[in-house]
Amino acid sequence: MKKPLNTLSEPEMVEWLKSVGQPGYRSAQIFDWLYRKFASGPDEMKNLPSALKNALQENFVLTQCSVIKTQKADDGTSKMLLEFSDGECVESVIIPSKDRTTFCLSSQIGCPVGCFFCASGEGGFVRNLDASEILDEFFTCCRSIGRLPDNIVFMGTGEPLMNYSNLISALDIICGEKQVGMSPRRTTVSTSGFVPGIRKFADEGRPWNLAVSLHSPTDEGRARLIPDKHRYPIHEICEACRYYFKVTGRIVTFEYALIKGLNDSHDDVLKLAEIVSSCSAKVNLIPFNAVEKSGFSRPDRSKIIEFESTLRSNRIPVTVRIEKGDNINAACGQLRVSHLKKEGK
Ligand code: SAH
Ligand code: SF4
Repeated sequence: MKKPLNTLSEPEMVEWLKSVGQPGYRSAQIFDWLYRKFASGPDEMKNLPSALKNALQENFVLTQCSVIKTQKADDGTSKMLLEFSDGECVESVIIPSKDRTTFCLSSQIGCPVGCFFCASGEGGFVRNLDASEILDEFFTCCRSIGRLPDNIVFMGTGEPLMNYSNLISALDIICGEKQVGMSPRRTTVSTSGFVPGIRKFADEGRPWNLAVSLHSPTDEGRARLIPDKHRYPIHEICEACRYYFKVTGRIVTFEYALIKGLNDSHDDVLKLAEIVSSCSAKVNLIPFNAVEKSGFSRPDRSKIIEFESTLRSNRIPVTVRIEKGDNINAACGQLRVSHLKKEGK
């Protein structure tokens, strides 16, 4: 079986180069093409001799995904559906704003958690993306804009902390100084509250940002949104978040999808403020994106503003996620689901 080229370490690359009679310094050139110039194949690696290009082609897998669909929203947000060699798809979103561009990446095909309000869980869990596929997804987005993003967030399909070793291997390459070299502070991993994963992620000791999807300040409220199997009690989530803050020094973000009549009451906001301040955290409010058949809807705008200002008056740092790509179903998983339905899968 051919190995993927984009996850090869420097010593592995040098050893392989030796085995095909090439000098070790070619390793830096190949990495430069892969990680800085986002080459998708050896043909593009202009300063390499043809014998080496051929050997790379013969021995390694270079790009494993292809863009099968792109949707562009009026605000410039673009969503790509990427297909891997086994025909499975994920979606990645490129979100431009005035002064920065963010990539929203997927970590799994389908999602094992299966939250009742989320399109990503529809159709169940298919498989993990391996590290090289996550990198392919990232580099496909880089090629699309011709540069590195300013931020990346793992907020696409999947529970990233349940695909732990592949996530970390990909992040190590994206944030490795000798590799892609993005700042870990510009990288965010979002979890549904998978406590063992949060603790393990803290123990990596890297200043990656952590976002935790809380969505309700009570365990009963969360039970209406997240299936029992993968739902942890709020007090355990909070302990893990405090640990994350202590070890990494990074302020945790609690994501809170505001859903009409479910988690938008005055009592909810006061309880939320208490939880958030006990974790020295901040809040990102997400006005709910209607998903077919979920039965949930978004509160009125005035309610969202009131919720936000109550948090502020309780001294909780809060942002409201600006609606991006509304006319292209930007809620995670929706493009893939509509593709699966069209294909009759
Ligand atoms: N699995 C991870 C990351 C992916 S989802 C997690 O759950 O955190 C990124 C964010 O979008 C999560 O907070 C998720 O709960 C939220 N989300 C999913 N579907 C949504 C919808 N229809 N409307 C609003 N937010 C949604
Ligand atoms: Fe999975 Fe996150 Fe969607 Fe829940 S919200 S189903 S954990 S992707």
